[in-house]
Amino acid sequence: MAYFTTRPENGRHFLQIPGPTNVPDRVLRALDNPTMDHRGPDFGILGKRVLEKVKPVFGTTGPVVIYPASGTGAWEAALVNTLSPGDTVLMCETGWFAHLWQEMAERLGLQPRLLETDWRRAADVPAIEAALRADKGHEIKAVCVVHNETSTGCTSRIDEVRRAMDAAGHPALLLVDTISSLGSIEYRHDEWGVDVTISGSQKGLMLPPGLSFNAVSEKAVRASETARLPRSFWDWKPMLAANATGYFPYTPATNMLYALDTALDMLMAEGLPNVFARHDRHAEATRRAVRAWGLEVQCAEPRHYSSALTAVRLPEGHSANALRAAILERFDMSLGNGLGRLNDRVFRIGHLGAFNDLSLLGTLGGVEMGLRVAGVPHEAGGVKAAMDYLSGNA
Ligand SMILES: *Cc1c(COP(=O)(O)O)cnc(C)c1O
Repeated sequence: MAYFTTRPENGRHFLQIPGPTNVPDRVLRALDNPTMDHRGPDFGILGKRVLEKVKPVFGTTGPVVIYPASGTGAWEAALVNTLSPGDTVLMCETGWFAHLWQEMAERLGLQPRLLETDWRRAADVPAIEAALRADKGHEIKAVCVVHNETSTGCTSRIDEVRRAMDAAGHPALLLVDTISSLGSIEYRHDEWGVDVTISGSQKGLMLPPGLSFNAVSEKAVRASETARLPRSFWDWKPMLAANATGYFPYTPATNMLYALDTALDMLMAEGLPNVFARHDRHAEATRRAVRAWGLEVQCAEPRHYSSALTAVRLPEGHSANALRAAILERFDMSLGNGLGRLNDRVFRIGHLGAFNDLSLLGTLGGVEMGLRVAGVPHEAGGVKAAMDYLSGNA
């Protein structure tokens, strides 16, 4: 039994959703090693190595907690370790993922205060500053921002969020979701004064789903000492204690740590600035293709364009889901669907993770053919616009 979606005999399926992303063969081979004793002497060597090696990707020298969980688990961990029942949290509602995080906060007994957007731009920094300045009694305990909103393709400026918090002189914690940006878009946990950075394995880190992360500041660790939301599995304290010697308080996802070790080697060998530049370039080529087709990018603010994915709006009266279904059927490519209020209105092209010029051209070729097959009004020449850009810009 092969676990492929459609036609594995005809070359590779194109997995161009914005996560899970394509896993490099080298990483798959690392997974395919014997599972080891997670309490034996060899494990501590591996544990110490990956716990150290993962830090530069977050731009931190502090601890990074690794959970055997999807990104949603790391969202929960960030909240339950730092906050208490009834705490007010300022949440930027930039799209579907920010919305899900807000629902989780409510279920956990927190009181989200929302800063809404039209889902066509990233977090509204002046609004964050105004909300913090108005909060004279410091009721807001945390500001929660999704760095790269995967439902819209808009990237928030975390450096500016930090400056706004400092300008307001507000002591709230800064919690940032980098699940679809880490390892694809520049990010600096320490320099931007982030308290908890949340991430996951299956997007920019080029791994299968199954690991998630909390990078934690000293201020966050201090907050966890008095935070009163119930927590057990997610508790940082036993994690940080065991991690000091390279071990975990419960069974870690051993083989996923082999894969993480290898994926981090690949990112470091390429060099993070080169990784980010590669993503910027593929994102620009994608937007040029979209414009040449005469279609519109969901992100309406060029400063917020995402380098990890592009959400593309369909002309009024045309179905993005029908287009995606046609592309899957005819060309064996998966594209991201529209989420929440964008269902059927947009499709999303993932151009993050293990990805190069020709994978982008294959992807855009599938979209351009799909637009024709599905009868979506467009101009030809998107792929050509991308080729012109890629061949002219090394
Ligand atoms: C994928 C994603 C999530 C959800 O992560 P899971 O691994 O599916 O739990 C949350 N936030 C963002 C920004 C994402 O892209």
